[in-house]
Amino acid sequence: MFYPTVFDKGDNLTHVVKDRNTCNCGFKYNVFPTFVRSDFKKIKFKPANTITCPRCKALGIKKFS
Ligand SMILES: [Zn+2]
Repeated sequence: MFYPTVFDKGDNLTHVVKDRNTCNCGFKYNVFPTFVRSDFKKIKFKPANTITCPRCKALGIKKFS
């Protein structure tokens, strides 16, 4: 099972994407109000064991499985 994830350079964590602006833990990976094509490049599909944000793990993995 692969999850849409974004890597945050600020806290060095890999988050699970919830929608086009935020991650499961509430982290905003897209600070702009509009979703442009370049934003898709931030999203990488990765297996669950690469998700390092503990809050995304707790909240997110069940949702996508
Ligand atoms: Zn997170």
